[in-house]
Amino acid sequence: MKYEKFKGHKIKRTCKEHFDKYSKYRPYLEEDFHERCCYCNMPSDLLTISYHVEHFIPVKAFEGKKDSLLTEYENLMWACPKCNLSKGDKYKGDFENSCKIENELFYNPVEVDFNDIFFRNEIGGIESEDAKGREMIKILKLYRPIHNLAWLIERLEKLALNLEQAAKEETNQERKEILEVAAGKVALEHLKKSKLFRAVYNGKQFVEIEYGQ
Ligand SMILES: [Zn+2]
Repeated sequence: MKYEKFKGHKIKRTCKEHFDKYSKYRPYLEEDFHERCCYCNMPSDLLTISYHVEHFIPVKAFEGKKDSLLTEYENLMWACPKCNLSKGDKYKGDFENSCKIENELFYNPVEVDFNDIFFRNEIGGIESEDAKGREMIKILKLYRPIHNLAWLIERLEKLALNLEQAAKEETNQERKEILEVAAGKVALEHLKKSKLFRAVYNGKQFVEIEYGQ
């Protein structure tokens, strides 16, 4: 069931420079992609490890045939480590006879609005009613529960901020205190779930998480 739109921002391309190393594009990618993975939409501040510069047409496909794609900004994406690893070298297309940056297995996250392809179900899972969208979910493993968890954490963060704001604006002292307590509880839950998320993303066992720290 469609519950919420997939994402709330638009990716842009603002870099006009050309660099000889693709890692030099990192700051541009981070900003242009709103510090989110272009495939799963996970915000990078949830993780303690840095995001990857991902080649939409993978290096293995063009290596030795069209090496300019290594540092062409249009071929570079900002992706979380898990999406980057899942995508790997998977490629279908004819880059040698086309000047377009295309990989038929995936919708280009910069050119296609992922809100037209994906949506969130009522428990934050990523779904699609589109055949290629569904294939992308399989290839990129967007069905993994970490994506539900990431979604939940963002909702908790938003809720904590809203409650905090409501407490600030409340003039009735009794209601103000109730709101402050609620904001504090949600903020704590947000912190705990963020910790859980990092442990799950890094493949650690749940038992390693020490709550209340
Ligand atoms: Zn991702």
